[in-house]
Amino acid sequence: MSTASLPPVTRETAALLERLGVPAAAVSGGTLSVTSPIDGSEIARVREHTPEDARAQIAAAHDAFIEWRMVPAPRRGELVRLLGEELRAAKEDLGRLVSIEAGKILSEGQGEVQEMIDICDFAVGLSRQLYGLTIATERPNHRMMETWHPAGVVGVVSAFNFPVAVWSWNAAIALVCGDPVVWKPSEKAPLTALATHALVGRALARFGDAPAGLAGVLIGRAEIGEILVDDARVPVVSATGSTRMGRIVAQRVAARFGRCVLELGGNNAAIVCPSADLDLALRAIAFAAMGTAGQRCTSLRRLFVHKSVAGKLLPRLKKVYRSAAIGDPRESGTLIGPLRDEASFKAMQAALDEARAASGTVTGGERIATPAGEVAYYVRPALVEMPTQAAIVERETFAPILYVMVYEEFDAVLALHNAVPQGLSSSIFTTDIREAERFLSAAGSDCGIANVNIGPSGAEIGGAFGGEKETGGGREAGTDSWRAYMRRATNTINYGSTLPLAQGVKFDVE
Ligand code: NAD
Repeated sequence: MSTASLPPVTRETAALLERLGVPAAAVSGGTLSVTSPIDGSEIARVREHTPEDARAQIAAAHDAFIEWRMVPAPRRGELVRLLGEELRAAKEDLGRLVSIEAGKILSEGQGEVQEMIDICDFAVGLSRQLYGLTIATERPNHRMMETWHPAGVVGVVSAFNFPVAVWSWNAAIALVCGDPVVWKPSEKAPLTALATHALVGRALARFGDAPAGLAGVLIGRAEIGEILVDDARVPVVSATGSTRMGRIVAQRVAARFGRCVLELGGNNAAIVCPSADLDLALRAIAFAAMGTAGQRCTSLRRLFVHKSVAGKLLPRLKKVYRSAAIGDPRESGTLIGPLRDEASFKAMQAALDEARAASGTVTGGERIATPAGEVAYYVRPALVEMPTQAAIVERETFAPILYVMVYEEFDAVLALHNAVPQGLSSSIFTTDIREAERFLSAAGSDCGIANVNIGPSGAEIGGAFGGEKETGGGREAGTDSWRAYMRRATNTINYGSTLPLAQGVKFDVE
């Protein structure tokens, strides 16, 4: 890894924040220390919000709701269109800041901002398509229909690994649906949140007459998130992160009968069948398992290979694992950046030890010495050949570990595929249409995302994103995910002069 040509992370961060419109006072002298995984250096000290600040933002958002819900949806879409323009103009800077704060390689940092632009485009179109149904009624001279109304303030809690895209999946849709958004980003990624918020500010200024309090950001740790979670003025809480966090948030929101959109941990698998195109499968597996240093919710973690192709695929996969370029994610040619921090590294090593104890054979997984210094954690991705799907394989370790298991029989591998608590994303590599269709059928993959001849990661925004079981059941982004941000009313209108009751009930009074 050579970093000689790259500017120091701290200096580059300051320049990016300034260009993106984040005031210097917001990122210095605060109590929240922000480090870059690139070299472990402190890149900012951000001011944290107090519980009182959080309640004030929620109150302001609630006031904004009273106005915003009456603004016609296509006009609300205009704000999101302007936001899309701001994001296009700032794509390079914001993408680079994502690389610095989350450790993603440049194309992935830029890709994350592209995803924000894409969801803005989607939401603008959606702002003219918030349809309800007209329903056949059993009563004469009646009409029955459903209408969709804004739900209220949407609280967004997001994770460190998609520090800005996840907010946009929620915010772009919520804003056209008529809902203000209050965002609690990860305490490990507040800078990209503040930068995004500055871009929202630019879009709001150009929009002109949006109510104050329409978009808020709360900087802080879990306790600040809990204020959003517990506040009855926030009818929808969209929380992305670990299953541990989701279990707490879901129960607290349910206790006040709020609504949750949960996007939690995954343990995604791919099945490589005898007829698979192995060149294509190899590339897809490499990106899905090693990309983002295994720190995507959709990262490939379990690989089932048919015994007839294991001898061909696994040596090639090992070669790719040995040679993939690891280093500063800002450097062109790097494929694998750093782990987030020491805790991620320790969790990875503990998982590898547990896999070895369960008779796994580990290739890679070691720490790579780099010029970045002692507090940066670069690792060679690990390939672990497992004789069985042991307990460690059933857990999500948020690191580049791919467990490989050889299978013989399709029904058995399908059962193993589904025998984990998580249900986010999944893939099959086959040219046999029967296998492909069985994988996608009701008796196939039990995940929210099931792909054929594509890896499990890197979804487009047009489809609904999310997963089943301990992944939380939420859906965000495309298709009809917008319904989670609105409340549905059923309306029946009598345009006759009699009052027939439903189900033939008689209730005659003088
Ligand atoms: P995390 O659970 O540690 O934190 C996520 C967010 O939740 C942070 O903002 C944190 O402050 C907040 N939080 C934690 N406890 C809370 C509480 N009690 N109340 C309110 N907020 C609370 O997750 P992480 O380490 O940042 O991210 C990695 C995890 O996120 C992985 O499990 C990954 O699979 C998952 N993830 C899922 C998706 C998805 O769409 N399914 C996307 C990205 C990440």
